[in-house]
Amino acid sequence: MDSASQRRYGAWDMNQPERDIEQVHCGTGTREKALEIHRRLLAIYGEQRPDPTMDNDPVAMLVNTILSQNTNDRNRDIAYQQLRQRFQTWEAVRDAPIADVIREIAPAGLAPTKGPHIQDALLAITEHEGTISLEFLRTWPLEEAWLLSLNGVGPKTASIVLLFSMGRPAFPVDTHVHRVTRRLGLIPDKTSREKAHELLEQLLPEELYYTGHLNFIEHGRTVCQARRPRCEVCNLTDLCCYFLQMSNT
Ligand code: SF4
Repeated sequence: MDSASQRRYGAWDMNQPERDIEQVHCGTGTREKALEIHRRLLAIYGEQRPDPTMDNDPVAMLVNTILSQNTNDRNRDIAYQQLRQRFQTWEAVRDAPIADVIREIAPAGLAPTKGPHIQDALLAITEHEGTISLEFLRTWPLEEAWLLSLNGVGPKTASIVLLFSMGRPAFPVDTHVHRVTRRLGLIPDKTSREKAHELLEQLLPEELYYTGHLNFIEHGRTVCQARRPRCEVCNLTDLCCYFLQMSNT
């Protein structure tokens, strides 16, 4: 680690061949450990930058994220495109017969639930702002609480909107982030996804949230997979509580 990195991330003592649970800080992840994990994932997956082709309008992001709940990216994208092609404006989505909205978003699944959630959210934004815009959240101190007050919006959806469309400091926790950070022992094994948002936000500096979130996802998809983690190719074994426990059984 060069001296600049050391200043930024702190130093992790790499000269200990064997560690025990206490040394690896299982379930009580320290900032030092979190930064070292971030540094190693950065070395593999790199710094993440916003996708210039993505629609970063916060309302679009909110609708997109509601559609993405419990489905894959492909089905979400089909549903979102159908919705945007059928209705030219968000006002038209808000005021449409609910059956029409449900039909267009059907590819995303759970359409009878997601359709009303989308219309409720658009209505709540209208009532708050007099128009369909979430720009007020860019500077509002209670941005997350306001989003969480919307039907169908949980911590993951709220933090995705805040982080990806506004660059606000929020750390989204999806299934990959949840699994990888629990296995690593950055958060206790029984931590709920809701609580994980809070704990991870405390562990990492705000400027690392964007890249940190996406690199955990990438690691979860390619290496620390749900059914069988590929520990043999992972560069985090000496910091990983799951690996430590498996090695000791
Ligand atoms: S060592 Fe294994 S369990 Fe731990 S993060 Fe790497 S792949 Fe996941």
